Amino acid sequence: MSQLSPFDLARDAGRHTHHFHGGLKLRHNKRISCQTPVERPPLPDILVVPLLQQAGDIARPLVEAGDLVLKGQQIGHCQNCVAVHAPTSGTVEAVEDRLMTHASGMTGLCVIIRPDGKDQWTRLEPLDHIADISPARLARQLQECGLAGLGGAVFPTHAKTLDGHQRQVHTLILNGAECEPYISCDEMLMREQPGKIILGARILRRALGAERVVIAIEDQMGAVHQALAYAADCAECTQITVVKVTTIYPEGGERQLIKVLTGLEVPLGGRPSDLGLVCQNVATAAAVAEAVSEGKPLIERYITVTGNGISRPRNLLALIGTPFYHLVDACGGYTGNVARLVVGGPMMGYPVSSDATPVVKAVNCILALTDKDIAAPQAEMPCIRCGECSRACPATLLPQQLHLQVNNGLWDEAEEYGLLACIECGCCDFVCPSHIPLVSWFRHGKDMLRQRADEAQATTLARQRFEAREVRLLRKKQARAEKMAKRKQMLQQKTATAQQTGKSAKGPEDA
Ligand code: SF4
Ligand code: SF4
Repeated sequence: MSQLSPFDLARDAGRHTHHFHGGLKLRHNKRISCQTPVERPPLPDILVVPLLQQAGDIARPLVEAGDLVLKGQQIGHCQNCVAVHAPTSGTVEAVEDRLMTHASGMTGLCVIIRPDGKDQWTRLEPLDHIADISPARLARQLQECGLAGLGGAVFPTHAKTLDGHQRQVHTLILNGAECEPYISCDEMLMREQPGKIILGARILRRALGAERVVIAIEDQMGAVHQALAYAADCAECTQITVVKVTTIYPEGGERQLIKVLTGLEVPLGGRPSDLGLVCQNVATAAAVAEAVSEGKPLIERYITVTGNGISRPRNLLALIGTPFYHLVDACGGYTGNVARLVVGGPMMGYPVSSDATPVVKAVNCILALTDKDIAAPQAEMPCIRCGECSRACPATLLPQQLHLQVNNGLWDEAEEYGLLACIECGCCDFVCPSHIPLVSWFRHGKDMLRQRADEAQATTLARQRFEAREVRLLRKKQARAEKMAKRKQMLQQKTATAQQTGKSAKGPEDA
């Protein structure tokens, strides 16, 4: 009987659905932001566009204070990563360090643009003949249009596409399973722009050389299924299947979704392409369609502005660089008692200290929580070994064990027990009756492991450099010794010849 490899088994992605270990059924709180169509807020007074918005290298600024820029004009270039563009026309006020949209509250280089109100586009360069675009040409277009994954990881889209093509993946998975409570921007995008998502899916499928596309949505997304299926029918695209998956947190995680669609685990330290799969977010697919068919760079995205602290929660189409306060104003302002402003959802999001923080490509939600939403801090108690955390862990880890190891600095053991596989989903925190802040411990532990790995790499490099230098010196010494010996031999021969012919000559020692 022939045994199929996981690579081949994954070809059946989406034909049946499976379950992943653990996870939580949460109140999704999405309806409050889905009642009205997506709106485009007025132009803000100022735009703060960070030059690093994705995984990878920072872009080099192409403009300076006083320059006039057009909408869509490239203002940052990066050889190895993606470009950055002006979200509207206006004047560059400064290129300087500003507060970044990051959990650490760090600052970074940003281009500050004062909009002129004209919103005047630069000349865009779309690609023709979608069917004939080579993967390399598509990758160049995506890089120049600044595309990075809009699902949260912001990995450069061109690099993922090229890698998938090289590894001959067979299936493209579009992730529309937006499992975090409150966030509804992907659902609204799928409702309002299904045609764009289908076009992006077709472009990516061709570039990857994949046989199929599976679009995964949640079973509570109502009209989305019909919208996508209808758009796929209109495009006469039979290779696209829309699959409903049970709403359970965190099934929108890449590894969890792959498990649900294929029943297979992405190997630890491996990538989905090991199983012949590439995962992209549905919003990334829509951005690919715009980049190719219109030449439009990634200068705006759908964002959910929600929570009990917002007067009129809704989804907005916001320009990159817009300060959060401008979007909150567009939603009627705060209700008055905001206790915490969070970027992302309540499970994996992070708080920010100021609402002047700018929108970047990774921001899918601004969540304003009130006192009532935030549970009063509970005193941490000792672990009672109840096992609730391991039952809830979607990465099949043993959080109570990892906590013990990280707490005691047992880094080798923590690594062995899979600390780096923790996706920081917060399920273990949520269920722990002892109120142990497990995720905070794991974030700290992962930082320590990475630091150790960096140090070990630096030590190895230093040792290799030292050894290479030693070998080089030894070779030089040997070469010099051989040269000396040769010269000595030549002189001895010369002396001997001179003595034989009766001529005087200098001895080798004199020489
Ligand atoms: S935060 Fe990490 S350890 Fe805790 S449940 Fe999620 S994956 Fe498991
Ligand atoms: S849930 Fe909390 S108390 Fe229970 S085993 Fe895990 S860490 Fe210990």
